[in-house]
Amino acid sequence: MLNAVSSTHKTEAATGELALIERIRLRAAAGKNSAVRLGIGDDCAILRPPPGHELLVTTDFSLEGRHFRRDTHPPASIGHRALARGLSDIAAMGGKPLAAFLSLAIPRALAADTPALDSFLDGLLALATQHGVPLAGGDTSEAPDDRLLADIVLLGAAPSGRALRRSTAHPGDLLYVTGSLGGSAAELQTLLSQPTPNPGAPFMRSHLAHEWAATESHPHLYPQPRIAVGHALLRRRLATACIDLSDGLSTDLNHLCEASHVAAELDAAQLPAHPLTANMSKAAQIAAILHGGEDYELLFTAAPATRIPRSIANVPITCIGRILKPRKKQPTMTILADDTRFTLEPQGWEHLR
Ligand SMILES: [Mg+2]
Repeated sequence: MLNAVSSTHKTEAATGELALIERIRLRAAAGKNSAVRLGIGDDCAILRPPPGHELLVTTDFSLEGRHFRRDTHPPASIGHRALARGLSDIAAMGGKPLAAFLSLAIPRALAADTPALDSFLDGLLALATQHGVPLAGGDTSEAPDDRLLADIVLLGAAPSGRALRRSTAHPGDLLYVTGSLGGSAAELQTLLSQPTPNPGAPFMRSHLAHEWAATESHPHLYPQPRIAVGHALLRRRLATACIDLSDGLSTDLNHLCEASHVAAELDAAQLPAHPLTANMSKAAQIAAILHGGEDYELLFTAAPATRIPRSIANVPITCIGRILKPRKKQPTMTILADDTRFTLEPQGWEHLR
């Protein structure tokens, strides 16, 4: 890793690339976190986690054609989402983010598209500033083909031995979710239903910078990682286990059940639907809620005697079911709907193709 955010391939695109590196360097300096002793500018960053804390490390690819498309995702959204995925993982462990590292493979043609690259950085750095997490290093390279690739490494910290895990739910615990579900799938469906430009079309530019503030109406383009909620769950010792909803409720609940060796039952009537799902058919709405994915809410368990507030850090919290003892030949996950119990299979969303 070249912590100075330096170029590994000197090409004709180098001028644009070096200019980009310089812009990243200048703008990244704005984010401050006392854990970062040395950010961009040397061979390595130097981090000093708070005393009595452990480091959390998570890494996420954002691949063009797999996680985003230029004709549906504005560059600011691609930057925002790349960082949001890492932040959501830190939130799931109850941690505080310390520093982000960004590696970019940029297609040659795109290296000259300064407005698009600036907009990508705008989206990423706005979210980084919101959560006080500096961009402390990274790397750039020319992409081998015409697809953009962004890799984010995020470091966080949690008090030693206290990071929330997905493997510590107990039978009898109640199951809770933050915010609402299905919004990301609903917005993506709308985005994909727009007429598609030709392959290789330029970035969609219809989203203006000021729309970032309207994140509740853009749960897919600008998801809000629940850092403050995760941290409160840890600090106030409310949760017994926690996972973030990246792949979809049915898939991530299954991860939690398998890791904790428990079963779970959901109450369909309690599932909080995002307002964007309101116009869907009932079947499409429940599919978006259960399997939609990328809502980046937190799914957590708590002992039945623990009083869980209706909202934490201004995010509504809903009890959606309970953790059960696993039984042989019984499904791991069930869902109660209209007094009938159904088997729930993990069917999180397949990544965008
Ligand atoms: Mg996760």
